[in-house]
Amino acid sequence: MTTVLDTIDKGTRYLESRGIEDARRNMQMLVAHQLGLNRIELYMQFDRPMQEDELAPLRDMLKKRGQRVPLQHLLGRVEFFNREFICDSRGLIPRPETEELVELILKENLPAECDVLDLGTGSGVLGLTLAAELAEKCHQLTCADISPDALALAGENAAELELDGVEFIHTDLFDQLAGRRFHLIAANLPYVEETDRPSLTPEVMHDPELALFSGADGLDLLRRFCKEARNYLHPGGIVALEIGHRQGPALESLLLAEGFTNVRVHKDMSGIARFPIAHID
Ligand code: GLN
Repeated sequence: MTTVLDTIDKGTRYLESRGIEDARRNMQMLVAHQLGLNRIELYMQFDRPMQEDELAPLRDMLKKRGQRVPLQHLLGRVEFFNREFICDSRGLIPRPETEELVELILKENLPAECDVLDLGTGSGVLGLTLAAELAEKCHQLTCADISPDALALAGENAAELELDGVEFIHTDLFDQLAGRRFHLIAANLPYVEETDRPSLTPEVMHDPELALFSGADGLDLLRRFCKEARNYLHPGGIVALEIGHRQGPALESLLLAEGFTNVRVHKDMSGIARFPIAHID
């Protein structure tokens, strides 16, 4: 007889042998997922025997994880700001840093009826979380992306969160947004430098290319964004961005050059200048 605990032990050893970091946590999450349990429920059932029809799909997931398929893709879900989102290869896997961006935005002085644009929405985590947190204060959320697949994923996430009235726009940055104005534009645009490509983990390479890279210095899209953003903001509007670890000074100058005021680049938990927030008068 194989118990839940035997399965976890054996799977952990397998994942460790494949060089997976945090092997035990990965394995526990996969077993919990397979059995439809949460983490606490799993601990309560360590002695429970596992049936072959439960083990077979688990072996399949384990093999994929050993081949460096991201855990989040195998679980099909990810937690972000205390909510669950569908997660698959159609959109970037939400990162914990982006939760910090949400927190910073919620501290800003936003108008009572806020029109929000999430540009490069991917899975929708940023915009949808803001809409959920701002509740009545969010008058309209617009999620925009160049990838139709990402927009479909964001749409599914909006439906799961029961967020009605979200607008989805297929566009390359602001191209299809002529004449529109927002109070807040939040964007976690692709910012990885081409030169960083060799240092990315195999897991990261499962994210869509389009969601990661942005030219030699990673700033192609952010440069375009800074040049165009003010035309899509109401007076007093705010931009809030996430950027790469070497890009703080560049973003500060780009935003100042385009007439933004109160330009601040907030640090993330690791002390990296990561989140530029700026206003337009
Ligand atoms: N806005 C999404 C996120 O923050 C997607 C970002 C992206 O694809 N670069 O996770």
